[in-house]
Amino acid sequence: VSSSTRALLELIRDVPDFPKPGIVFKDITPLLASPAAFQSALDAMAEPLRHQSITAVAAIESRGFIFGAGIAARLGCGLVLVRKPGKLPWKRLRHDYALEYGNDALEIHADAVGPDDRVAVVDDVLATGGTAAAAARLLGDCGADVTAFSFLIELGFLEGRGRLATGSIHSAIMY
Ligand code: AMP
Repeated sequence: VSSSTRALLELIRDVPDFPKPGIVFKDITPLLASPAAFQSALDAMAEPLRHQSITAVAAIESRGFIFGAGIAARLGCGLVLVRKPGKLPWKRLRHDYALEYGNDALEIHADAVGPDDRVAVVDDVLATGGTAAAAARLLGDCGADVTAFSFLIELGFLEGRGRLATGSIHSAIMY
């Protein structure tokens, strides 16, 4: 583990039994509050996406937005929002999926990306992979190529990457 990765690890707080018994929640608010750690997290998440001709970063609500914006700015590409139901105003596509703690659905604007796009999906945590897989499905339904995934944290023991069918998968921190 590199010293920069260790610095990030020290700023991720484990909160047992949140939001449900049995879930160890990865609280990233101390990391976000540290200027050096936040910058280094964005650098670590953006770096593997360079030289992949990414045209758009698709960020998953809510914590994915925090990282997606900074990564899109670093890569010089646009930001696409994958949102919880009922938030997007324009024509939408929807996909329902199972979460580590419950069920949920995601939506995207039908014209957010298209066949000319090479998209990187960004979120804070890869757990069971249901959320990222749902986002990838929506992007595919728009006609885009899902080229890569970038996560701050991967909970490797949940084997979520096995649910991601296409694209390279990158995580700055592996548990
Ligand atoms: P999953 O669909 O199971 O891969 O869950 C990923 C989504 O749920 C991400 O958007 C995370 O923000 C959130 N999530 C799942 N498990 C955790 C966890 N242990 N700590 C923090 N966030 C989590």
